[in-house]
Amino acid sequence: MEASYDYIVVGAGHNGLTAAAFLALNGASVLVVEARETPGGEASGASFRGSWYPRVAYALGLLPRELASLLGLDLDGSAYWVDPSWVLLADGEVWLEWWRDPERLASEMRGHGVEQGWRELSRVIAEFRRCASSEGILYTVKPPSLEEAAEILDRCSEGLGDAVREPWIRWAGGLVGKEIADALTYPVFLWEPGYVTLYFNLNGAVWGPARRGFTILAHELEAAARRAGAEVLYGTRARVLVREERAEGVVIGESRFIRARKGVVLAASILCLPRVLPPEAYERFLDKKDRLALEELASSDAAIDRFNFALAGEPVVPVDYRPPPILVVEQRGLSGELVYPSLYEPPTGGPHTMVFSGATSLEPRELAWRLSGVEALEVEAVDRSVLEREYCNPNGAPNHIPMTRDHILDRRPLPGWADYRTPIEGLYHASASSHPGGQVTGIPGHNAAMRALLDAGVRPTHTLLPRRALRGAI
Ligand SMILES: Cc1cc2nc3c(=O)[nH]c(=O)nc-3n(C[C@H](O)[C@H](O)[C@H](O)COP(=O)(O)OP(=O)(O)OC[C@H]3O[C@@H](n4cnc5c(N)ncnc54)[C@H](O)[C@@H]3O)c2cc1C
Repeated sequence: MEASYDYIVVGAGHNGLTAAAFLALNGASVLVVEARETPGGEASGASFRGSWYPRVAYALGLLPRELASLLGLDLDGSAYWVDPSWVLLADGEVWLEWWRDPERLASEMRGHGVEQGWRELSRVIAEFRRCASSEGILYTVKPPSLEEAAEILDRCSEGLGDAVREPWIRWAGGLVGKEIADALTYPVFLWEPGYVTLYFNLNGAVWGPARRGFTILAHELEAAARRAGAEVLYGTRARVLVREERAEGVVIGESRFIRARKGVVLAASILCLPRVLPPEAYERFLDKKDRLALEELASSDAAIDRFNFALAGEPVVPVDYRPPPILVVEQRGLSGELVYPSLYEPPTGGPHTMVFSGATSLEPRELAWRLSGVEALEVEAVDRSVLEREYCNPNGAPNHIPMTRDHILDRRPLPGWADYRTPIEGLYHASASSHPGGQVTGIPGHNAAMRALLDAGVRPTHTLLPRRALRGAI
């Protein structure tokens, strides 16, 4: 007998599970189909002989408390919230300690001679978070343009619009100096609109190494989806079936069809689209311009250097705090972030572990030696080919596609697609490549679920959409 659900979600990454949970909480029947054997996608753990480490994403920071609370997630238990949250080491010397405690952070900023500027910047970050959450910028089914977002923010607080319009380094550099502004973002975002860096700092730049390498959060999300009534199928790759102009459901295995009465949600990189659609549907429904844009994005190697190490002994960590905060390391031959998972959860029989994420010209074993003072027993490189093959992230980009001015807000993933719909009726997108973007936030999953429900004429009751966004949206 043919199985059928209201919605089928392709991918049990954190966004797929979030979408499934919100669809089910609002009364829909939902099936999630995941190619891998475990939940979480790029936010999930692995182990070297029993020692847990984060395989791809390593730090939790941007998943909003209000979203976690609607899903009943325990954010406090999903990461190690140490203080300081992170420390920047320049050529081996501590240059900046990012305290969670506001007064210690203010004192740190005083030491850098930018306390006043910092107080203003932290006010702007808090105001951005409040206004973007309540006024339909973050939680929305129709993302605004950059200019519209700036106008909304200006209405919340005069001058806030400039913080999102202006290039980050010019605007924030004017407040806290170029070095602190630089420390709060990535080099690729320095000259992008401040919006991008404000998004990355929604949480006041507080990050915690994910517990058991995101395994805890991934399982919490799965439990939330199941509690709401969704079913989850692992080890199963899905292809989307398009019939009579719309996404009818998915095909799994050789030819098993599962019907989706109301919609299919692609919760993997949008660049995965050509792999889940039949070629004739991809050609027929997508404009040539859009196909070219997706192909161009998919063909670039956008992966960062990402290594996981099993170590021969306990790493020698260059700061006094135990367990250590996330280390942001800048020195000759490397620039990146370091986490030592086994110093949070001591190994029981397995090796010590260390993960590096960033850019380096060093050979991985040399890198491990330099950063830990002990030899690497095993090196796992999570490069573009791994991300492509195992997560359907074809270019290996940390946020699936760039978070640059051409691909944010109403232009994410492409102009005309930001409302979570695709050119194929009944096929939605919900991943890091959807608005508001990458990192472990769950917001794309939430928003896409809302879009799919509204299209089906359902007025969601479990939602973070502001009332205004609901009015007239059906
Ligand atoms: C190297 C690196 C480091 C990062 N570090 C951090 C960090 O520290 N903190 C942070 O917040 N973010 C980080 N990120 C970003 C973050 O990991 C991603 O933005 C986020 O995990 C994406 O989640 P998602 O649910 O949108 O998609 P994904 O996690 O990519 O999930 C997609 C899922 O879909 C499945 N799938 C694909 N195709 C099919 C199919 N046909 N059938 C069935 N299943 C399918 C995949 O197997 C996968 O499980 C990092 C990313 C990278 C690459």
